[in-house]
Amino acid sequence: MSPEQFRQLGKQTVDWIADYLERIAELPVLSQVAPGDVRAQLPAHPPGQGESFDAVLKDLDQVILPGVTHWQHPSFFAYFPANSSGPAVLGELLSAGLGAQGMLWATSPACTELETVVVDWLAELLGLPAHFRTDGPGGGTIEDSASSSTLVALLAALQRARDSGGSAEQTTVYLTSQAHSSVEKAARIAGVDATYLRVVEVDPKTLEMRPDHLATLLAADVAAGLTPAMVCATIGTTSTTAIDPVRRIGEICRRHNVWLHVDAAYAGVAAVCPELRWINDGVAEYADSYCTDPHKWLLTNFDCSVLWVADRAPLVSALSIMPEYLRNTASTAGSVIDYRDWQIPLGRRFRSLKLWLVIRWYGADGLAAHIRAGVDLASQFASWIAADPRFEVLPHHPLGLVCFRPLWPTLAPEQGDAATLGLMERLNASGQLYLTHTRVDGRVVLRFAVGAPSTELRHVQAAWQYIGDQLETALR
Ligand SMILES: *Cc1c(COP(=O)(O)O)cnc(C)c1O
Repeated sequence: MSPEQFRQLGKQTVDWIADYLERIAELPVLSQVAPGDVRAQLPAHPPGQGESFDAVLKDLDQVILPGVTHWQHPSFFAYFPANSSGPAVLGELLSAGLGAQGMLWATSPACTELETVVVDWLAELLGLPAHFRTDGPGGGTIEDSASSSTLVALLAALQRARDSGGSAEQTTVYLTSQAHSSVEKAARIAGVDATYLRVVEVDPKTLEMRPDHLATLLAADVAAGLTPAMVCATIGTTSTTAIDPVRRIGEICRRHNVWLHVDAAYAGVAAVCPELRWINDGVAEYADSYCTDPHKWLLTNFDCSVLWVADRAPLVSALSIMPEYLRNTASTAGSVIDYRDWQIPLGRRFRSLKLWLVIRWYGADGLAAHIRAGVDLASQFASWIAADPRFEVLPHHPLGLVCFRPLWPTLAPEQGDAATLGLMERLNASGQLYLTHTRVDGRVVLRFAVGAPSTELRHVQAAWQYIGDQLETALR
């Protein structure tokens, strides 16, 4: 493809995306295809000769699009928001166009230096402590996902535990039943034996970690000669946006010199609103590492997860290996950052471009307005449900997620749960909205997660109306 062809087809592709976004509300939110449908429409063998771009766009419309669930749809309320935005997409395009490998400072200096500036900017925008900034002993980096951020934090924590004389094998990791599955996965990858995973109890109503139980577990493990390596606290769990009491957890970690990782993948970006910074209480004083995903609720398409550490030494010492073929003057002199030492893979994309474009386009005020709009819509939705005797709303919904369930007055709990799931399936099959479920206290609850930039009050109202109508039908 010559630059001239690229210019023309690129414009056509951008037009395709703009047209898609203009008509997205008319498409069924949840893809209606059955397993194998998409694959069956695609040739089993690759083309021998190159094909026209038009042929590809045609297949995109006819074969691919029906198999897409529209995460940017204004009536997408499932899982968590996975925001995209114009500036982010354009940043992604620029990154692809440059095609640079940013593994070392030397392999593309701007790739490293822009990232440093952008993660420092984001730390400031979120009101995170100064010691997370790169000009101190700590710093931030962009990882592909929060799962990687947690794994990298755990490897640094294990390194620090071993450096301070702890046992390499008998290291323990602490989490709650509400922690994201990626924490357990990170432990598995890092070689922490499943018998050394400690599940700290949660308050049954709020689902927050119980610091007293953490203290008991830590004390018992230390007494048994084990080496506690990391505690993972969550600010805004994926299931219900529960917020662990980081300050009290941090005080306990400090006493035992245990690494505190704070997973704020979903909710952390809400701190762009000064009035929501309370969610990060205790992070400044106690967190050794902290992660949040602009690729969830901050207008930046996947992938873009930011991890900060208070001290980068254990991280770099855990992950740095210098083979001869990568040796260069700048790295040897120690005058630059090589972000390959802050992540699992060697190669890295120029991810900071999209976050840079997003922050410059929206500014602090625009980012805050976006979060506020989602929080506001969620709280309106919660108030309608709370006022409706057919439903019960869970009391904790400080951010963009509302958990609720129909009461099913005539059904036993298990039948009620089945009915709730049945209602959810019918709602989602309609294509008019998409929501998901979780379990709280053993009972099925529906999750209504607001946060797409295209979602307006009328979409939330329509969803609410439709949920009520479908429930009426089910009750009849
Ligand atoms: C979504 C989520 C993750 C995983 O995020 P990825 O970036 O997809 O790996 C981890 N922790 C929490 C609390 C999450 O909400």
